[in-house]
Amino acid sequence: MINNSMILIVDDEPANIQVLAACLKHRYRIKVATSGQKCFEVLAEQEKPDLILLDIEMPGMNGYEVCEKLKKGPHESIPVIFVTARDAIDDEERGLNIGAVDYITKPVSPAIVDARINTHMLIKHQRDLLEKMALHDQLTGLYNRYYLLEEANHKVALSRRHEYELTLLMIDIDHFKDINDQHGHPTGDAVLKKVSSLLIELNREGDITARIGGEEFVVVLDHCNAANAEIKANSIREKVEALKPDGINVTVSIGVAQLNDDDSDGGFTGMLKRADVAVYQAKELGRNRVVLS
Ligand code: GH3
Ligand code: MG
Ligand code: MG
Ligand code: MG
Repeated sequence: MINNSMILIVDDEPANIQVLAACLKHRYRIKVATSGQKCFEVLAEQEKPDLILLDIEMPGMNGYEVCEKLKKGPHESIPVIFVTARDAIDDEERGLNIGAVDYITKPVSPAIVDARINTHMLIKHQRDLLEKMALHDQLTGLYNRYYLLEEANHKVALSRRHEYELTLLMIDIDHFKDINDQHGHPTGDAVLKKVSSLLIELNREGDITARIGGEEFVVVLDHCNAANAEIKANSIREKVEALKPDGINVTVSIGVAQLNDDDSDGGFTGMLKRADVAVYQAKELGRNRVVLS
């Protein structure tokens, strides 16, 4: 993975870019930008670099300004290393204080560039991995309960501020214990993964899809009222029924709850509770159905 990583080199001097690229191109993919402005244009592209090598002296926006802007924006987690001819202690101190992880002076020694960048790349990938593990469920790859609760309060606040509808689906697999009992736990796991993949496929990227319990999932739908969410829930229910993972009949019961002004606890917990009650009612009514709170 580290070998496929990408480095963005930002320097106004093509000769400097060439020297750095020559040190790194055997190990990493390289993108270049010849000004601070162009650095942000590259960052707006689909694929984000894993690390940025940043010159300080550049016409227009200098390296410090680029770094400061970066550290305040959506790309703040990308490590920045200054590569600069400024070798005064004060300059280095300033660079590190505004958030760079390292400071390399020109003329560069290829062996030092290589070694330092490999170290920072390793740290970056370890941090990415830890973050992924902290926020995702290991079996299915869906978001976990922790992420859901963190993110949901944010969504509730946005929906209240901008007055748009927010709805939650609580999805519980029916008689899942029987599936484990009849086919074994590994097959149960396989069923959970296939249902999860289907949920990812059916839901929009911006909507949170999380596994919050053994066989329980939550989908948070932005800009969606209860009536539309009910239609969506029924479509999910039908598609799960048609899935037949490993030839096994799997159905789900779904509770739907829309955020309302009476929901206490900032809103989300109340909505979650109401969706849970709706799931319980769906189970009582015979399972494989959708109940609106
Ligand atoms: P209901 O229709 O009322 O929801 O019945 P149920 O059997 O689905 O619900 P119950 O809560 O009784 O059982 C859930 C089962 O899910 C029990 C537990 O062993 C199983 N389970 C929880 N986590 C996992 C998991 O990670 N893998 C597998 N294979 N099973 C799990
Ligand atoms: Mg320069
Ligand atoms: Mg359950
Ligand atoms: Mg269940």
